[in-house]
Amino acid sequence: MSVQRYAVIGHPVAHSLSPRIHAAFARQTGIGLEYAAIDAAPEDFDAALAAFAAEGGVGANITLPHKLRAAQICTYLSEAAQRAGAVNTLTRAATGWQGDNTDGVGLVRDLTERHGLDLRARRTLLIGAGGAARGVAPALLDAGIGGLYIVNRTPERADALADMLALPGRVHPRYLKDVGTLGNFDLVINATSASRGDPLQSLPTLPINLIAPRGAAVDLSYGEAAIPFLAWARSARAHDCIDGLGMLVEQAAESFQRWHKVRPETDAVYAKLRDREPILVTA
Ligand code: NDP
Repeated sequence: MSVQRYAVIGHPVAHSLSPRIHAAFARQTGIGLEYAAIDAAPEDFDAALAAFAAEGGVGANITLPHKLRAAQICTYLSEAAQRAGAVNTLTRAATGWQGDNTDGVGLVRDLTERHGLDLRARRTLLIGAGGAARGVAPALLDAGIGGLYIVNRTPERADALADMLALPGRVHPRYLKDVGTLGNFDLVINATSASRGDPLQSLPTLPINLIAPRGAAVDLSYGEAAIPFLAWARSARAHDCIDGLGMLVEQAAESFQRWHKVRPETDAVYAKLRDREPILVTA
C-alpha cells in the first residue's frame, strides 16, 4: 500500500514544527506517512491545495494566513470549524475536503492539563481576531471562562468574531487602542501575529496593570516570536507565562487522531521540542 500523504500549508511555513511532530507521532504509533510543508501565498492557496490533492494528499493542517479561506472551500465543516469559521485540519473525502478545527481543544488541553490552570470564571482578554483567535474563543467559552473581551487592530474583525460567538452578555468586542480602559484580566492571550514579521509592526505597548494578581499570560506563538509579549507579561508580574508550544503539540495530536483514529502520547514529543525551543523571556 502506498504511503499516505499529509502536509501543513501556510505562508511562511519553512519553520513549522508540524512535520517533525507528525513524524514523531507516526513513529510512536507505527503508522507510515509522509508529512510535508507547503508554502503558498494567499492568492495561491486554492491551487496549492488542488495540486496536493492531485498528488494523493489525504490530509492537511492549515496555518496562517489560510484558515478562513480553508473553511470556505470545504464541503463539510465540523461543529468546531463552524463555530470558529476557520479550519486548521482538512481531511479528504469522496465529496471533497472536510474541515475541522483543533486549535481550541489543543489550547485548552495545554492550559488545563499540562499547566494545571483552572480556566473557570477567568475574566479573559483575547488580543487578535484572526484564524487562531476564532479557533480558541469557542473552546475557552466552553471551558467556563468568565467574560471574554476581544480586541483587534481592525475592530470590524473583533465585531465579526463576537457576532459569530453570539453570546452578547459574555463576549465584548473592543478596539485594541482602548485596551487600557478595560480593567484587569485573569487570563490575557496574545493571538496576533504581530511579532512574526517586521519588528516595527509590533503590538502597541500594553498597560502593565492589565494582568490581575495571579493572572496568566499566554502567547499562541513560540520561540523568538513569543519574546516581546512574554517579556511584557513577566514585567506585568503574570503568575503564569505560557507560550504556544504545548498548544501546537496538542492541536497536532487532535488532528492526528482524526486522521488515524489513534491519539498519540504528547508529553515526550513536547519535552523534546521544549529542549529545542526554550521559553525565551528577556524581562
Ligand atoms: P491571522 O493572519 O489569521 O491573524 C493575525 C492576527 O494578528 C489578526 O488579528 C491581526 O489583526 C493581528 N495582527 C497582525 N499584526 C498586527 C500588529 N502589528 N498589531 C496588532 N495586531 C496585529 O493569523 P493566525 O490567527 O492564524 O495566527 C496568529 C498567531 O497565532 C501566529 O503567531 C501563529 O503562529 C499563532 N498560532 C499558534 C498556534 C499553536 O498551535 N501554537 C496555532 C495557530 C496559530 P488584523 O485583523 O487587524 O490584521
